[in-house]
Order: sequence, then structure tokens, then C-alpha cells
Amino acid sequence: MEDTNGCPGSARRIAYSGQGESKQDTADQLRLLIESVTDHAILTLDLDGYVASWNPGAERIKGYRADEILGQHFSRFYPPEAVARDRPRYGLDVATREGRFEEDGWRVRKDGRRFWANVVITALYDETGQLRGFGKVTRDFTARYQAQEQREMERLREALRIRDDFLSVASHELRTPLTPLQLKLTAMRRAIDNASGGLLPSARVERDLDVAVRQVRKLVDLVDDLLDVSRISVGKLTLEHVPADLTALLREVIARYLPQATQVGSTVALDAPEPVRGEWDTRRVEQVMTNLLSNAIKYGEGKPVHVSLRAEGGMALLNIRDEGIGIAPEALPHVFDRFMRAVSGHNYSGLGLGLFIAHQVVTAHGGDIRVSSVVGQGSTFSVRLPLGPT
Ligand code: ADP
Repeated sequence: MEDTNGCPGSARRIAYSGQGESKQDTADQLRLLIESVTDHAILTLDLDGYVASWNPGAERIKGYRADEILGQHFSRFYPPEAVARDRPRYGLDVATREGRFEEDGWRVRKDGRRFWANVVITALYDETGQLRGFGKVTRDFTARYQAQEQREMERLREALRIRDDFLSVASHELRTPLTPLQLKLTAMRRAIDNASGGLLPSARVERDLDVAVRQVRKLVDLVDDLLDVSRISVGKLTLEHVPADLTALLREVIARYLPQATQVGSTVALDAPEPVRGEWDTRRVEQVMTNLLSNAIKYGEGKPVHVSLRAEGGMALLNIRDEGIGIAPEALPHVFDRFMRAVSGHNYSGLGLGLFIAHQVVTAHGGDIRVSSVVGQGSTFSVRLPLGPT
């Protein structure tokens, strides 16, 4: 039906009365509806913000009876600090300008208690388009707010726990290489002091030096991991792509780790028949290979480690499989998290950062890394890297 005065609201009302109900009936129904609502405070304000109507929901939520509040200014629902910032006026100004204003914030009940409210203020126009006042719907979201606060507190508590655990793991890990380093340096000092006729026992000093250098290397690796993590958390992990052959890189990494594997009785089998050429940040990809391979050796219980690499569908596919302790199903989804350790620090050293860094490096390259594992049977880490920058 055509609207007679061009006001969209009245077109709807005419349609209702066309269903056999008068305008008065509709208004009555609306009033009944508003009066039966108890979980929403529904009220109207005049142009200056004085309360013009009040429903039972408003009484329930704000504590005032209609006869106490009608004609009072709505700023009394706001805490003093919000009134000082002219927040009530601001809400009306926005509703006047934009037709609607919504916010979540603290409000005050009659008894002075605060509640967390969701407030919607709507500008009310008459049929000539003249602003006549405001409708205000307030809901009490205190329980929701508290639940959210609770969740936030739990999240913070958990973050603090993880940080404290990490600090204790990190200090232990950083302390461990220092003891042999100190011992060897002291032994060398003594050897120099006792060197008769200026002759050093060179074989002994060389052995001590090797140990000292290895411990310093361990410390440098640990500190590098920590530096990488802080780089990642401030978004400063930048990649420098250069052309490279991943097969050659992988061979180098394996060759470097063979002594360590042999020491624990593991063999490392490589299946990489072809060069895999592309462009990557090779230092970072090498870091991924190193982390995965050293884990396979560390957690591999002296059993064989199988490594394969090939190119397929524009991707480099790297698999590193061990037959070691495996990862418990509940820990599996978290192994790429920062500081995550699924083993006891007494049995295995580590900061719980290697996989986190590997994951970040692989995703920064536009690739992905996955793990499958069965406790007691071993783990397989699969990396897919695009052959070129994405
Ligand atoms: P780290 O080895 O320093 O603890 P990582 O980030 O490299 O840290 O690995 C995180 C955790 O994932 C390890 O503490 C370990 O529990 C588990 N993990 C990683 N690789 C393996 C693997 N190949 N086999 C069994 N568990 C593994």
C-alpha cells in the first residue's frame, strides 16, 4: 500500500491496520509487549534526556519504580566519572546525528551497585520527521562481562605460569653448558700456570679447548633461539630469498649431525634423488632442517632416522621420520606452540622453541609443517615449502 505522507514507518502501520487492526490496537499491543519484557530495560527519554516512560524490565535492572524515576534525567544511571566526561549527552548527540548509539559500559543502580550494561539509544521521529525523543534499551551484561573477565584472568594466569616455567627451564638450560665451560677454562689456566719450562701439555689443552668451544656453541644456539623468538613476537622475522638447492643444503645438515647420531646409535637415511631448486631464505630453512633433525636424533631413542626430500606440484616436500618416543595425542596439537615441551626436562634438554621457530619460518615462506606421531613408535614431521617466494 502507498504511504500517504512519505514516512516509511507509517507505511508499515497502514499495512498492519489493513490486517483488520486499528492503529490504537497496534499501539496497545506494543505497550503490552514492552510492559511484559523484564530482561530488557526499555524506556523513552524526551529531547533533553528526561525519562518519559519506564517498563518493568527497567525497574528490575535499574531498581527504580516508575513513579520515582519518571521526569528524572537519565544521567543518574551513569557513574560519576562518565557524567564528568559528559557521556550521557554524547550518547544523545550521536543518536541525534546518526539515528542510533550503542555502547557497553558501567551503569549504576538505584542502590549504588554498578552493572555492566549494553545500551542502545535510538532517535524517535514523528510522522513529520521531527525528532521527538529517544528510545533506550539497556541489557544487564554483568554475568557475561564477569565470565569474560574470568576467562581473561585465566588466560593471564596461564601466560604467567608458562613464563615462569620457561624462565626456570631457560635458566637451567643456559646454566648447564657453563659448568663444563668453567671447568675446562680453569683446567687450562692451571695447565698454563704449571707448564714447566713454558711447555704446555698441548693434547690435553686441545681437548679442553674443544669441550669449551662446544659449550660456547650450545650457549650461542640457545641465545640465538631466544633472539629469534623475540624477533618473531615483534614481527621482525624477515626473509631473504636466494636461489638454492635444498637437496645440497639437506646433505650438509645431515653430514653435520652424523657424529651426534652415531653417538646415540642412530643412523640417518636420506632419500633425495634429485636436486630441489628454488628460492628460499636458506639460513632459515637450514634452521628448520636442523631443528627437525636434531629432535629426531634427540627423541629417536637411538633408532634409525629417515629423511626424504622431493619437489612436487611447485612445492618442496621434506619428511623427517624417527622411530623414537613419539608424542602423546593430547600434546600433539601444541608442539608448535612457544615454550611447549611434551617431555620432562630431567630426561631431555631443550627450551621448547625449536618447533615454534620452525613453524614460523615455514609459514613465513608460505608453506606448512605437520606432525603425525604414535607414542612409542615415533614421529614424522612433514614440511611443504613453495619453490619460490609467494
Ligand atoms: P625442545 O626439543 O627444545 O623441547 P621443540 O620446540 O623442538 O623443543 O619441541 C617441542 C616438544 O615437542 C619437545 O619438548 C618434545 O616434547 C616434542 N618433540 C619434538 N620433536 C619430537 C620428536 N621427533 N619425537 C618426540 N617428541 C618430539
